[in-house]
Amino acid sequence: MNILVLNCGSSSLKFQVIATDLEVIDRNEDRQLARGVLERIGTEALITMRAEGRPAVRDAVPLRDHRAALDHVLRWLVSPESGVPGITSLGDIHAIGHRIVHGGEKLTRSVLIDEAVIDQIEECIELAPLHNPANLKGIQSARQVFGPGVPQAAVFDTSFHSTMPPESFLYALPYQLYVRHRVRRYGFHGTSHRYVAYRYRQLTGLNHEQTNVITLHLGNGCSACAIKKGASFDTSMGMTPAEGLVMGTRSGDLDPSVLEFLHHKEGMSFDELDSLINKRSGLLGVSGLTNDMRDLLSEEREHEDRRARLAVEIFCLRARKYIGAYLARMNGADAIVFTGGIGENSAEIRARITADTGFLGIVPDDGRNQELVGGREGEFGAEGSRIRLFVIPTNEELLIARDTLRCVLGVPRRW
Ligand code: AMP
Repeated sequence: MNILVLNCGSSSLKFQVIATDLEVIDRNEDRQLARGVLERIGTEALITMRAEGRPAVRDAVPLRDHRAALDHVLRWLVSPESGVPGITSLGDIHAIGHRIVHGGEKLTRSVLIDEAVIDQIEECIELAPLHNPANLKGIQSARQVFGPGVPQAAVFDTSFHSTMPPESFLYALPYQLYVRHRVRRYGFHGTSHRYVAYRYRQLTGLNHEQTNVITLHLGNGCSACAIKKGASFDTSMGMTPAEGLVMGTRSGDLDPSVLEFLHHKEGMSFDELDSLINKRSGLLGVSGLTNDMRDLLSEEREHEDRRARLAVEIFCLRARKYIGAYLARMNGADAIVFTGGIGENSAEIRARITADTGFLGIVPDDGRNQELVGGREGEFGAEGSRIRLFVIPTNEELLIARDTLRCVLGVPRRW
């Protein structure tokens, strides 16, 4: 089955076309037929698309909205010039899988999309006002183009974390606020944490029950997850993605009273404070330079930039703090898994996070660590490391495609 995976942001659309089937999943031989990114939708969009085995095609085209962006992608996918194997008409796309950021408390598994599901995703807009409306635009656009005959599934960033116990997901606020407004921690990046836990099992031969790991998704957004017996037990993001680790432009954990203080001192409104902690803080805020870890590391190396160094240090120390907290939370873990753009590519950041943690049983092997970059998967714990260390490149789109297939066939998910 050829599955179009769509991930719509407020002004972006990412897609992949993945060929998969139940036997293909067993052999781990799903094929990525095409992928692409369209950014700055609403103006002159920047487009990069690539068919399997072909060089990337880059273009800049004015695209009004997500519907226009989807039309552009589909025209390219079916055109003979694109060379996407097996796709010559829209009929060659058999189902669509959407990444949806917030499923709230009710949408705790991947589901086929119908009117009731759309209503529930709409209900969650107040919890994810930037993300869910964009995700819904993707659904509506795909429905307009493909009609009711092509099944669509929703895969939620939050659903993997629905197994968290109340001690993990409740804030220490008056309980009535949870009852009245569902103020609680939901967690995000669930598809990524779930994928790396699944790959960890494949690499180690362990089963679900034996999966006790800490996963660190370190990209522009960052989160940690304590996975106990294969299920999410605790995670660092909260009611929104703002909580937890230091990120590219998000502060992560913060004394909430800082916001009131800044409201008085700087006359900042709630919208401005929201933008401050989500878009102007983190690596960007501390360094005053950039949210890009690569650039910060080279600024630190080449120009000994003090604030770049501070930004990277605060980033690494926060990650270490969560490792310590989750080891205590879970009565120890068997492994730590790094993923995301930084986690997969920066041996230096992995080394800084895991330095001097021998007393916890975490001992990296420098040589092996250096080798695991550019999409390579493997283990970098030293011989005597009690806790195993892994780099596992994430692949959320693959899980979305596989979940979509299972929803369409009506077979239960196995992991
Ligand atoms: P993501 O959001 O998962 O795409 O990750 C984006 C982040 O990964 C950015 O901060 C990049 O700077 C960072 N990144 C990608 N490659 C490297 C690298 N080789 N070294 C350090 N950071 C990297």
